[in-house]
Amino acid sequence: MNNLVVMKFGGSSVATPEKIKNVAARVTQKAKKNRVVVVVSAPGDMTDDLIEKAKCLADTPDLREMDLLLATGEIQSIALLTIAIKSKGFDAISLTGPQAGIYADNVHTKAKIKKIRPQKIISELKKDKIVIVAGFQGINPNDDIATLGRGGSDLTAVALTAALKATECEIYTDVKGVYTADPRVVHDAKRLDMLSYDEMLELAGVGSQVMMSRSIEVAKKYNVVIHVRSSFSDEKGTLIMKEVPKMENVVVSGVAFDKNESKLSITDVPDRPGIAAKIFGALAKKNINVDMIIQSAASDKRNDISFTVSKNDLKVAVSLLKNISKKLGGGTVIFDENVAKVSIVGIGMRSHPGVASKMFKILADNGINIQMISTSEIKISCIISSRDTTQAVRVLHGGFGLG
Ligand code: ASP
Ligand code: MG
Repeated sequence: MNNLVVMKFGGSSVATPEKIKNVAARVTQKAKKNRVVVVVSAPGDMTDDLIEKAKCLADTPDLREMDLLLATGEIQSIALLTIAIKSKGFDAISLTGPQAGIYADNVHTKAKIKKIRPQKIISELKKDKIVIVAGFQGINPNDDIATLGRGGSDLTAVALTAALKATECEIYTDVKGVYTADPRVVHDAKRLDMLSYDEMLELAGVGSQVMMSRSIEVAKKYNVVIHVRSSFSDEKGTLIMKEVPKMENVVVSGVAFDKNESKLSITDVPDRPGIAAKIFGALAKKNINVDMIIQSAASDKRNDISFTVSKNDLKVAVSLLKNISKKLGGGTVIFDENVAKVSIVGIGMRSHPGVASKMFKILADNGINIQMISTSEIKISCIISSRDTTQAVRVLHGGFGLG
């Protein structure tokens, strides 16, 4: 649709009546020149609070009912925002995910968007209304409410931008854009003007909490231009878009860290085909994502295998591994929670050699020990002791000239 913009506001932007008024002001300002679809999240920490409440009633709450419960947060936001917008004399309408035509699959609490039938949104836009859509929710093939996974409002916003062929997806948040590093850790971190989808995916994947990773994948697939910007100022933020040649001149675009990883090792497993498949197959069966993997060269026909999983999965992974080790005649299972992953990301790495060695040297010069390393075309990550995290991020940021 012509001249249409999708604006998404996260939970912190609609946490109080004052903040909702601020959002209403921004939306109505935009609506003077554009057609506008707004996507909002649940206010403040409401989603966390609702999860807490349910867990007071059951250890593992029923997932269908969880979805219904969690969806109420976003529904409060859309109704309140629409009330605020209408009180300013603008015409607006709120729509839940199902009303907006967002169809999801059957996986409660982690549903994927299957398709969007935007007819109702379009007909309301044609009546010159501002359309306010509840993020993070849709309807599944059983006609039940489904939610899209934590942070899912970003996904709603990006998917709607694609389905409605809007010109841009604006993500309004409490930071001014995407930074070269977390500004709370690195005081001279700079806001990036633009970033490619792949870089943003790597940054989102290593714990820069700006946007949900899946939403970036969808944006990449449909070539949706995302503008991450502040809810509280008019300044331009960061554009996330397809690669342009200019981006390659920058070797490293950002430094990220993730304190949510833990390291596990299984020692002295027999060196024969099928062992790794058995170990990682068992983890996959429990839905445990493995990040880095290292297998050492065998001595005496025995191997050590180390890998990382998220801290939430550690307990299950350790007990699984102990069982496997017993069955395979392996050695002890060792784990360490006090680790962190630091990563440097940049599409320029593809054409500039020597980036990895520079990273290792910077860490070494600062007495920081590297426990594990992994690389992709545009990212190098190291597992280090968690107490070195802040220092590592700062020296890498400075060392690669990002300040
Ligand atoms: N309210 C949901 C959450 O907190 C969705 C979102 O914020 O995007 O995860
Ligand atoms: Mg939220």
